[in-house]
Amino acid sequence: MQSTDADPGADPGRPPADPAEPNAPLEESRTPADTAEVVQMPVRPKHLSPSSASVLRQCPQRWKFRYVDRLPDPPGEAALAGTFAHRVLEDLLGLEPTERTMDSARAIARQTWSEMEADDAFRALDLDPDGIRNFKWTAWRAIEGLWDLEDPKTVELIDTEAEVSVEIDGVPFIGYIDRVEAATDGLVVSDYKSGRAPGRKFSKARLEQVLLYAAALAELHGTLPARARLMYLGQRIDETIVTAEAIAEVTRRLVETWEELQERSATGDFPPRPGPLCGWCAFVRHCPEGLAEVQRRHLAGALRPDAPALAEAV
Ligand code: SF4
Repeated sequence: MQSTDADPGADPGRPPADPAEPNAPLEESRTPADTAEVVQMPVRPKHLSPSSASVLRQCPQRWKFRYVDRLPDPPGEAALAGTFAHRVLEDLLGLEPTERTMDSARAIARQTWSEMEADDAFRALDLDPDGIRNFKWTAWRAIEGLWDLEDPKTVELIDTEAEVSVEIDGVPFIGYIDRVEAATDGLVVSDYKSGRAPGRKFSKARLEQVLLYAAALAELHGTLPARARLMYLGQRIDETIVTAEAIAEVTRRLVETWEELQERSATGDFPPRPGPLCGWCAFVRHCPEGLAEVQRRHLAGALRPDAPALAEAV
């Protein structure tokens, strides 16, 4: 029997078109809708972020659906709850250390709630009162989960929600870093995750994102951060020491992915790459290969029952 423990990717704590991707990574690449004759324009990627690199490696066609065709990819409920939690934690860490209490977090959450209620993606969920209550609980569990990991009063904050846009070994890189702080051994780069922590065998791969952020900071400031970590709220912290070797490795992979993207963009070759993640692909209805993969895995008992694509494929 095939494994069902594919890492869905995924921190549902952020919607796919998330705050880490506010800008399309492309120059104009679509034919204007009001043009009668369809003309395929070459894709001209502007930059690469950890999430767009990850999508390309998973499935080139998924990358094209998302970044070229801009097919609808609405964030799910869990992703939006994670976004809300991120906003609250950002404001919380922006307070004076002594004020970073759970009461402050509650007050920030109350103030921030009106923004979430006005958010189009949230409104599209069309939650009933029970659904809204569940949404708030999901978000709050993530927020209070910070205290399971640390006492935020002890954090010596340098920056939060920091945009980094820099060339790394010739690759135009963009990213948004949840948190940079000072520790006795140097800077620590952190990213909050409100989704379920991955199995241990996926932990190292997931750290690539924060190592790339560390590489970007090293480019900007000339010194390597000391540590990079993923903070799975309410669960655990996965952390790695930032070494020159680790940075060289993630940089090498970034360059490889960028070169692959250049090549695919020039040829328009973005083939489907069916696999376990099809079960979590928002574009599965547009992809016969993905639908077949989901059905095959379902029949083989090799797909988690909560895979959203099951609703499309079965
Ligand atoms: S359904 Fe699978 S093969 Fe199709 S685009 Fe999505 S990830 Fe790729």
